Amino acid sequence: MRQTLLPDLVVDAHGASSGVGITVEHGRLVAVGPATEGERLPGRALAPGFFNDHSHAFQRGLRGAVEQVEPSHPRDDFWTWREQMYALAGGLAPDSIHEVSRRSYGEMLSAGYTTVTEFHYVHHHPDGTKYEDPNALAKAVTLAAEDTGIRLLLLPVAYARGGLPRFRDPSVQAFLQRVDDLREWSEGRPLVEVGVGAHSVRAVPRGWLEEIGRYARRDDLPVHIHADEQPREIEECQAEHRLRPVELLAEAGFLGPSTTIVHATHAGEEELDLLSQHGASVCACPTTEGNLGDGFLPAESILERNLRLSVGTDSHVRIDPFEELREIETIARRLSGRRNILVAENETSPTPYLLRAGWGRGGPQAGDPADLIEIDLSHPALAGVEDRNLPSALVFGAGSGVVAGTWVDGRKKYTRGDPDG
Ligand SMILES: [Zn+2]
Repeated sequence: MRQTLLPDLVVDAHGASSGVGITVEHGRLVAVGPATEGERLPGRALAPGFFNDHSHAFQRGLRGAVEQVEPSHPRDDFWTWREQMYALAGGLAPDSIHEVSRRSYGEMLSAGYTTVTEFHYVHHHPDGTKYEDPNALAKAVTLAAEDTGIRLLLLPVAYARGGLPRFRDPSVQAFLQRVDDLREWSEGRPLVEVGVGAHSVRAVPRGWLEEIGRYARRDDLPVHIHADEQPREIEECQAEHRLRPVELLAEAGFLGPSTTIVHATHAGEEELDLLSQHGASVCACPTTEGNLGDGFLPAESILERNLRLSVGTDSHVRIDPFEELREIETIARRLSGRRNILVAENETSPTPYLLRAGWGRGGPQAGDPADLIEIDLSHPALAGVEDRNLPSALVFGAGSGVVAGTWVDGRKKYTRGDPDG
């Protein structure tokens, strides 16, 4: 079905235009340009949907529950938080991971995320034995995404050592067999894509990294890994390999244009150079990194090298793309004592750079998936904002409450105030 949407404004990274229609057919945008006929969306602006490039859906279950000091751990930090996360992960079953994932993905749609990359590492029974279907939990997560209608990039994640028994596979071959099976199962599921991941250099030894890197390259799959989130992880990597995490990944052949490093909080200049040389990307998760006390994203160094940047909600302490983007620039300001830091070449504002990180593009264009958000122009946060300043007002002065509707694959999947979504 061909349909033209006529909002008051169409937003891109540089401004907002009136008199523009967006024509949708078979789940794609087929035209973006001057139009007078179509379905009017009064009081609304249309913008691309946001990519949430790093999620552990089940960690939504920690919301509000980890914001006090446990008497047994008077000095709370990432590592004590992790104990509570393990306790939650230890109790998951197919039904409960489906339920919490559904809640996470529903909230993401309501906040304006239309695609989620799920970094999935809870695979087996609590004692480490396989489910009858060895991908039972990954499939439960996938079905939750399909229930809500969000687009999913599912990354089954390798875990070799440490953590809980249910995270671990006995060999990299056993792990990759499960990935093969999951890829086959996902064929014919239009909103689902399967890539691959390795948890971290802490949880995955060098031999596995080499195999997983080879596998991803052979089939041109997206491949993600956590790296440089905490100083201790870097110290342990140096003790084991005499290399920093990204140096190890480079030597193991893990880096390439389809590789995404999640966090890179403490990545050194040489590590960022290596990412640049291999065309790899960085996914920042500022609200989680702030909540866990990880540190500050080296955003200026990432921009200088023109590394591709995306954002993720990771632990889901917050699910709000505007806040993630704003944090990236705010961190750069706090670190430098200046303003308007992440200004890309030929730009005068950080807003285009930040929106590109959130959308993966500069604005709605013919050929893109029909994944869109409706912005409520009557929202108090946007009152009095000039059209040309709307993108910056969204990034610097708004929150997910301005999202009034979310479209995925040309269909409306979320309507604000509608109890059925
Ligand atoms: Zn993570």
